[in-house]
Amino acid sequence: MNQVEHIYPPLNQLSEDEQMLKEAAADFANSSIAPLVHEMDENAKLDRGLIKEFFEMGLMGIEIPERYSGAGGSFMMSIVAIEQISRVDGSVGVFMDVQNTLVNNAFIRYGSEDLKERFLPQLATEKVGAYCLSEAGSGSDAFALKTTAKETDNHFVLNGSKLWITNANEADIFIVFANVNPELGYKGITAFVVERGMEGFSVSKKENKLGIRASSTCEILFEDCKVPKENILGEYGKGYKVAIETLNEGRIGIGAQMIGIAQGAFDAALNYVKERKQFGKAISDFQGVQFQLSRMATDIETARLLVYNAGRMKEAGQQFLKEAAMAKFYSSEVAERVSSMAIDLFGGYGYVKEYPVEKFYRDAKIGKIYEGTTNMQLSTIAKLLLR
Ligand SMILES: Cc1cc2nc3c(=O)[nH]c(=O)nc-3n(C[C@H](O)[C@H](O)[C@H](O)COP(=O)(O)OP(=O)(O)OC[C@H]3O[C@@H](n4cnc5c(N)ncnc54)[C@H](O)[C@@H]3O)c2cc1C
Repeated sequence: MNQVEHIYPPLNQLSEDEQMLKEAAADFANSSIAPLVHEMDENAKLDRGLIKEFFEMGLMGIEIPERYSGAGGSFMMSIVAIEQISRVDGSVGVFMDVQNTLVNNAFIRYGSEDLKERFLPQLATEKVGAYCLSEAGSGSDAFALKTTAKETDNHFVLNGSKLWITNANEADIFIVFANVNPELGYKGITAFVVERGMEGFSVSKKENKLGIRASSTCEILFEDCKVPKENILGEYGKGYKVAIETLNEGRIGIGAQMIGIAQGAFDAALNYVKERKQFGKAISDFQGVQFQLSRMATDIETARLLVYNAGRMKEAGQQFLKEAAMAKFYSSEVAERVSSMAIDLFGGYGYVKEYPVEKFYRDAKIGKIYEGTTNMQLSTIAKLLLR
């Protein structure tokens, strides 16, 4: 018999560090977040005390190296934490997702030593970050952005506006993409670090949303906003690279948010069908219901394997663009399908706000839109297949 040389662990088998953070994030979500979910959704506002707890738990700087006061963890640790938090509340899930997978990662990868020293310790311990790429006229076609940055002696002067900015109300540190020379098209796009309080910077209208309501989504205005030259993140004219590369990783984070939402909806439905009685027995005794549960569980397992596979490929330094697009595309479909089926299983009770599943369904919908719509993911996958 041939000897097996390599035995690969299952993709969803976690390392000791990943397992420990998973359990800590799950406990935190169950004890601190769960009691606030309904109120935060109704009021469309994140609880301030909760934000403080996120920092105290080290959940806002998971991959920030210890020398910058972070937790010194791995990308997969961020992924399992985002999943566990989103299992209880997808709004809070995206709050920590944007911080860890977009903002912190952009600083870690592209920041000069000066920027890292100035901003990473703050991001790890007390300050929330936001990522400002989209505008009213540029979403999928992100590099058609119109915000400009004009060079003066010591500064760049930013003018324009950003739309749909997650964490805008809570954030103090903003990564902003603006064009330093519109004649060069996307090759003029440059990333800047802008701080709340800088002259000419303001957070404007907050959106009233279908789902992830506790996560703030606002417009941001730049009116002759002066940003010091040393606040360029990455290279002058290479902001498109910063955007593309951070969003490639960010998509795996959204995948984690989506499998968390799907799992939360499934868990609620599994408990409910064992309790709810019709025709003299628990509805879980009906084979029709059992088949619905089996489909939901299989969907979640498939999506989780895709998300973890993309995350592990990224960590291994392999090309993961196609896998990340597949993970985001598929997990957002699964979150929508599973949370919809959870409503079906709750019957009329699924349709009202006293029960948790209608919120999972509303929250799931965003997965197909932000950090690249489903069509944009499909187009990336197709491009790579046909190359
Ligand atoms: C709640 C929320 C939070 C967000 N947070 C942030 C944030 O923090 N930072 C940030 O920068 N942005 C953020 N966004 C913006 C988000 O990334 C964009 O909404 C998204 O990229 C889609 O852009 P759009 O809304 O302009 O839609 P459009 O680009 O106008 O797309 C509309 C439709 O057309 C389709 N479409 C467009 N082009 C093509 C094509 N070439 N082929 C096929 N179909 C196409 C799309 O798939 C979609 O179905 C957020 C959005 C929301 C709703």
